[in-house]
Parts: sequence; C-alpha cells; structure tokens
Amino acid sequence: MNAMDHVRYLAEHIGARGSTTLEEKEAATYVEKRLTSFGAPPTTETFRSARSAWLPAALFWSITLASGFVFLAGGRLRAIIALALAVFGLVSILLELLFRPNPLRWILPKGDSQNVWARIEAEEEAREHVALVAHMDTHRTPLVFSSRTWVRLFERLVPIGMGFAILLIVIFAVGIVLPMPILGAVALGPMFVATIMLILMLQADFTSYAAGANDNASGVGVALSLAEKLAKSPLKHTKVWIVLTGCEEVGCYGADDFICKHKRDLGNAAWISLDTIGSFRGSPVFLSQETFLATSKSDEGLLDVMRSVATAHPELGAREIRMKGSYTDGAMGFKHGLRALTLESHQQDGTLSNWHQPTDTINAVFPECIQATESLVFEFLQQLDRNVRPDPTQSSTG
Ligand SMILES: [Zn+2]
Repeated sequence: MNAMDHVRYLAEHIGARGSTTLEEKEAATYVEKRLTSFGAPPTTETFRSARSAWLPAALFWSITLASGFVFLAGGRLRAIIALALAVFGLVSILLELLFRPNPLRWILPKGDSQNVWARIEAEEEAREHVALVAHMDTHRTPLVFSSRTWVRLFERLVPIGMGFAILLIVIFAVGIVLPMPILGAVALGPMFVATIMLILMLQADFTSYAAGANDNASGVGVALSLAEKLAKSPLKHTKVWIVLTGCEEVGCYGADDFICKHKRDLGNAAWISLDTIGSFRGSPVFLSQETFLATSKSDEGLLDVMRSVATAHPELGAREIRMKGSYTDGAMGFKHGLRALTLESHQQDGTLSNWHQPTDTINAVFPECIQATESLVFEFLQQLDRNVRPDPTQSSTG
C-alpha cells in the first residue's frame, strides 16, 4: 500500500473525522489494522478531550461581553466585579492559547478520543529515538476559513479583538478610580467588537467537519507508509515511534496525552509532526519556527539534517519557512521539551490548500507533494541514523 491508499480510505471512505466523534474512532481502527498488517503491533490509548476548538474562545468573548454589561450597570462595586471578570476571561484564554490548563477547559464539555501508536525497534542498539506524529481528526469549516480574504481578515481580527479586550480592562480599572459616565459610552466600542467575535466563534462551531484529505489524512498516510517500509527494513540505530493522534484540532489533546504517558521512554526523542502535506500543486516545507501565541524554535540539529537532505535532493522541492497563526502537534513537542520539527506543504502562493474548507477532499490533494514529503522524511531518517552510527575507530571486542 502507498500513502495515497490510506489518504483515500480516510478522506473518502470514512470522510469527516471530527475530534471525539465516532468517525475519528473509525480512523483509529483503520490505522490499528494497517499497523498490525505491517508487523508493527499497535497500542491504542484513550483519553478525554475538549470537543470544540471554538467554544473556549466563544466562552471568553461571552465573559468579556458580560463584564461590559456589569460595568454599564454603574457603580464602583460593579466596576470591580467587571474588572475581575474581564481579567479572569483574558488570563484563561491566554492559557488556552498556550495549551495550558485553565478554567475554560474545566467548564466546557469533554468527549472520548484515542491515540494509536507503534514502535519499530532499531536493528541494533538504539542511539536515536524519532516519533513520526500525525493527527487523525479533522477540523470544522468555519466562515473565517472560507476564503483567503477571510483567513487574512481573521488573522488581523484576533489581535485587534484581544487589544479591545485589554482596552475594556483599562476602562474598568479607570472606572474604579474615577467613576465617569463617559466611560460607559467608551466601553460600548470594545463590547461591539466582542459581540462580532462571539458571533464568529459560534458560527464556526455550527459548521460541518471537513473530509480532511490534506489536513490531515495526508500526514497519516505518509506515517503509515513509512511504518510499512521501516517494519520491513528497520533503521540500524534508530527506534521509530509511529504516533497517530486524536483531537489535534481542538488543542493537541492526543499528542499531549501521548507524551505525558510515555515521557520516560521518549527521552529526548525527535518529535516530527506531519501535517497537511498534500497541498494542491504544492511542495514540502519544514518549519524553522512556529508562532501561535508564543514562538517556538525547531531543533537546530534536526533542522541541519533536514537542510542537508533538502539540498541533496532538490527534486523534492523542500523549503524552509516560518509558520505564524496556527499550530500543529509539533506544539506538544515544544511544550514537553522534545526536539521538535514540523513538516507541512505550501502552494506556490505560500498557503495550505483548502485549509479547514469543505473542499479539502481527495480530489484536491496533490499526490506528488505527498510522495515528495514521504521521500524527504525517509531520507531524513536515513541521514539521522547514519549520524548516530558508532565510530568504527572506537569499536571494542565482545
Ligand atoms: Zn492539521
């Protein structure tokens, strides 16, 4: 089987695989069967996860809006309550954007999900650990992702909206010290912005899930295809974990759970995230850094290996880029201090194709790009493995 066979099964036969849904579970069952057939016995681990990527933000904007109404009711005490509410909301959403525990997570509904993983041992003594990670779930198809213009607008709206939320906090603080009727009128502006943001977040959560051929049946397809090859012919000194995660789209719950459960065995593993690697008429990109709320830099050692492989194989068209405004399971590698590096794909104009859109179907992925990414990762693994070969001049007997 090749990567496209897996992509086809996941995106066409199963279709949309929303986080914590039965279809996501069906994808996990498929992955289990394939790994078993390759001779890489899988383990499935369940975990609890948020069900929505959008509800935490919707709750944050609701809290912000409510704090505005409390303030408008007037009086110093209400201004204090408004300030406390708004700060509580802001701190919570910032923690959420950093993938940290916070009250929004505690309040919102949860569901069951699963990771499937297998480990392919090295032929000889393992001196390097690599985890190839790809998420099985798919995202919703919100208005804010419906076109390039909307995506660009949304990228600006988020920081602008956060700015207004902070402005509201300043207004409440001033209102405690200097109660002035004019402040109520000033607060109406940020409250209007909060209303727009709330509507957009709620709209997103009522849309259907994408079939996710590019995001991320493509990554799962390549991880499975490499698992089949490596199970047949393992690397000499590199142990490879194949990690297919659930619930990436709602905040990387699967990847987080996996690392927490296997931290000791993973050690200082290379955490290679494969996400959205089949962009239409696109080519592979590897990320030197990822910026969501915070910026995380990819591991320099892994980057050097990837750069040398990309240079040695110009036919694969791989480029190095910086990513901003989204996240992948790579974020959990950074969070837990692993050596992380993410691969994606870009179209000629530097975008992911059909990202979180209903058009992310099997007809819109680019098999050549998926194949190029698989070759790139294969060569990368071979190179990593060569780098950790024991020095023959230091060989000992026995
Ligand atoms: Zn993805």
